[in-house]
Amino acid sequence: MLRAALHRSAREAVLQRQQQQQLERRCREAEERAEAEAAARAKAEEGGSVVQAALGARLAELEEKLGQAQRKVAVMTGGAADASVAHPRDLTLAELEQLEKEMGRGLEVIRATVRAKLEHSMQSAQATGRCICCEDQQINVVLLPCRHHLLCSDCVPRLDSCPICRIAIAEAVVTFGR
Ligand SMILES: [Zn+2]
Ligand SMILES: [Zn+2]
Repeated sequence: MLRAALHRSAREAVLQRQQQQQLERRCREAEERAEAEAAARAKAEEGGSVVQAALGARLAELEEKLGQAQRKVAVMTGGAADASVAHPRDLTLAELEQLEKEMGRGLEVIRATVRAKLEHSMQSAQATGRCICCEDQQINVVLLPCRHHLLCSDCVPRLDSCPICRIAIAEAVVTFGR
């Protein structure tokens, strides 16, 4: 009887020790996990600050470019109220050469667009027989000397030169029929 009891209590002691060991192992694992998570968090924060620094640098770079662009625009538009930033002499030679190139390209685009639009307007005026200028009245004037025949007699008096070829209007002859 006593023997059996001793045996039981010895087994319980072993079991208890095993449980304790298991508990200790779990605690250790939990601690390790917590440490790993903390390390990961710290690393992420460090990464975040690196990203933030990069963004800050990029922002400063963009602001610098914006400043340059604003100076160029001020020059392009003939100068803002603040004359100190609006005159071409405030730009460097390199900036001026760059600006000249950019404005040249811009002008080419504008001229090509004007040509394309004019071409389109001429075609539609010829198709409808309506004035290229007001798009309302019938075409009834031929301009001299260019001989363009795309305007009405209401619009011609407001014009100094032909809207198609820019040649000065010497005479506007009224036409009949089409
Ligand atoms: Zn007209
Ligand atoms: Zn003309």
